Amino acid sequence: MTEALPEIGLMLLAAATGLWIWWLARQEPVWRGASLGVLLGGLHAGARLLEPASASLATLKPSDGLLLLAALAWLTTLRRLQSTDTPRYSLGLLPFIGLMLLGPLQEAGLELSRAVWLTDLLPLLLALPLLEAALRGQVGEGRLVWGLGLLLKAGGSLALLWLGEPGGFTHLAWGMSLALLAWGVHLEIAQQRIGKTLLILMTAGLLSSLVALSLNLQAPNRFSEWVLAGWAYAVFAVITGVGLVVYQRILRSERQLELWVNLLETLSSKSQATQHLTPQGVLQSVLDGLKPLFGNLVGLEVRSDATFRAGQSGPYVRTFELALDQPAEGRLYFFGPPKDERGLEALAPLLTERLRLSLTLSEWRSKAYTDPLTGLLNRRGFERQMQRLIRLAGEQDKPITLALLDIDRFKRVNDTYGHPVGDEVLKQLAGLLRKASRSDDLAVRMGGEEFGLVLFGADLEDAYHVLERIRGELRALHIGPIPWRLSVSGGLAGGETPTSMSTVQRWLEQADQALYEAKKAGRDRIHPIPATPRLEDLLEL
Ligand code: GH3
Ligand code: MG
Ligand code: MG
Repeated sequence: MTEALPEIGLMLLAAATGLWIWWLARQEPVWRGASLGVLLGGLHAGARLLEPASASLATLKPSDGLLLLAALAWLTTLRRLQSTDTPRYSLGLLPFIGLMLLGPLQEAGLELSRAVWLTDLLPLLLALPLLEAALRGQVGEGRLVWGLGLLLKAGGSLALLWLGEPGGFTHLAWGMSLALLAWGVHLEIAQQRIGKTLLILMTAGLLSSLVALSLNLQAPNRFSEWVLAGWAYAVFAVITGVGLVVYQRILRSERQLELWVNLLETLSSKSQATQHLTPQGVLQSVLDGLKPLFGNLVGLEVRSDATFRAGQSGPYVRTFELALDQPAEGRLYFFGPPKDERGLEALAPLLTERLRLSLTLSEWRSKAYTDPLTGLLNRRGFERQMQRLIRLAGEQDKPITLALLDIDRFKRVNDTYGHPVGDEVLKQLAGLLRKASRSDDLAVRMGGEEFGLVLFGADLEDAYHVLERIRGELRALHIGPIPWRLSVSGGLAGGETPTSMSTVQRWLEQADQALYEAKKAGRDRIHPIPATPRLEDLLEL
């Protein structure tokens, strides 16, 4: 009876392990097969105890069927845990399998009931490509643990096959195998890493299995040396493999740390010269910082009154929302699930702060540079944009013409119908100016009811025609209760390529002078223009 104790212990351990894996398989049903495999292995141990020992060695016992079924159950799981890797590192285990098979190959007439133990090699062989992914650090390290479990099961079975009676080695190997299977499947499903404790236990277990094996060989038979050499090689290969994984992990975490430090630097750097930051530029720097860590990030976006974006907003599979102040929204677009979601959540406050900066910049800009009533550039916006246009005109050797416009008798509108109607007139004229300006032109509210139009690439003649059209359009408008025709006077200057802001300053004075002359000459006209008769004058004559 005492001799059966290890077998009973193993049976109970197998039942517990099988049920545990079944429980884990709630999340990943693919593991049901493995769970059955372990349970059938346990049943096999029990069935062997009950069977008479004297059965003929040439035939299979009923219990052997359970062993085959167990291997088949394992195969269903292993086949579905597909891996695209071709085995390379994992081939290091092949010499073990070879050594264990080689010696016995010299032995003719192997009893069938013993050869059945070779079935335990099947799951191990099928697991090689799967282990490859783990050795390259592409999947959870739990796989190394249950892979070692399969190896120990095969090692124990092979020793039994060649040494006859199950000894301490077989029991130790099988016991460890079950524990590692349970632990490994748990780690794989939970996507956890091998901890230090597990590493030490695995190494200690492997080394003690070698000791147990050599103790078993006290009464050696012909195969002892093969089995010992094979197992010693397996232990060596496994320890080397695990060492490789740990080494890769260290390298990777060093690289990861470097990327994190870079990212944090990017996110926390406050540029001293805020005026050199653009909302877009801030977003781009955040994107550049995040990309090395979150490879499948495609873009990020801030929405408020305006929308700013760096990278793309599609195609995306996942978004990560950042809580900016209502009603502003910040959003990261990912092509696929973010790899390190916890890291992303930890970063969220810093990211939010950076995106808020881009919004603040944009608001600050729009308030400082645009006129709230008409939405046109204000005088500061005009000066700022003008610097860009001067550069552009120089590069492209193009003229710029500046026009100043002033609504005629505007005071009368205000005095008769009140300010809101006056405001409406301003907005309508602003609309006409906006409509007339192309992408490099500027439409400006210089102040009060005085407007500016900067026409890029236009000489005085071109500009005159544009301004005449606007004047005609304003005359054609009927705004609210105003019964009379509204008109505008304008002065033009420039028509050349400006060299600096002082040129533009001079043009402003000239255009103002021309405007004054247009008013003096009777309003509702654009000045100066060399000898172009006004259409109305021609018609009235
Ligand atoms: P002129 O033909 O000589 O230009 O006559 P005008 O009445 O347009 O001349 P003036 O420059 O004396 O009047 C400008 C008026 O524009 C005075 C001011 O009340 C009005 N104004 C300035 N800014 C605004 C504004 O934002 N809204 C409204 N409704 N009126 C404004
Ligand atoms: Mg005026
Ligand atoms: Mg006026």
